[in-house]
Amino acid sequence: MIERFFRSKHFIPKEFHDTFFDIDFDQLYKKGIRLILTDLDNTLISYQEDIMTKVMIDKFDELANQGFEVIIISNNRPERVEKYVRGTKILGIGSARKPFFKGIKKALDMASKTYYDDEICLIGDQLVTDIYLSNRFGIYGVLVNPIARKTEKFYTKMNRRLEERMLQKIAKKHPDVFARLKLEKRR
Ligand SMILES: [Mg+2]
Repeated sequence: MIERFFRSKHFIPKEFHDTFFDIDFDQLYKKGIRLILTDLDNTLISYQEDIMTKVMIDKFDELANQGFEVIIISNNRPERVEKYVRGTKILGIGSARKPFFKGIKKALDMASKTYYDDEICLIGDQLVTDIYLSNRFGIYGVLVNPIARKTEKFYTKMNRRLEERMLQKIAKKHPDVFARLKLEKRR
């Protein structure tokens, strides 16, 4: 079981970008992606922020106009997610318990329609929760760099240590993938 969990291929994202804003959403649309599931903490905002900025509101409007549905899926408290999406059309769930399936299934139930797995992407800053979940669930995982590491909580710091080992493994076992995704730029 442990060996299965530690297989490095489960931790390889399909894409890696510095920030959410660097993702080529036109390209994702062309690939057939229609539902964007996104992490909250350190993907959209740092732990020190709690409300949606104007820039982000505009970005979500742009994504809606491009034809995407967006749902936030966070392991943080539901109240934090609710505060973030308040007054917007974006849906979100907290206590998602990524990388387990319960939260993501709940998010898919909230979606306006049923999506095929190959129409769904999950964007997040953690290999151990977001990307591992994407690969096990069979959806398109997009990794971004964390906005600010300094303020991360204890359990996230633990995940980062495991992530560091995984990155080393990917570099060793899949050097071509490591180079193509430019994972050396992982902060
Ligand atoms: Mg995060």
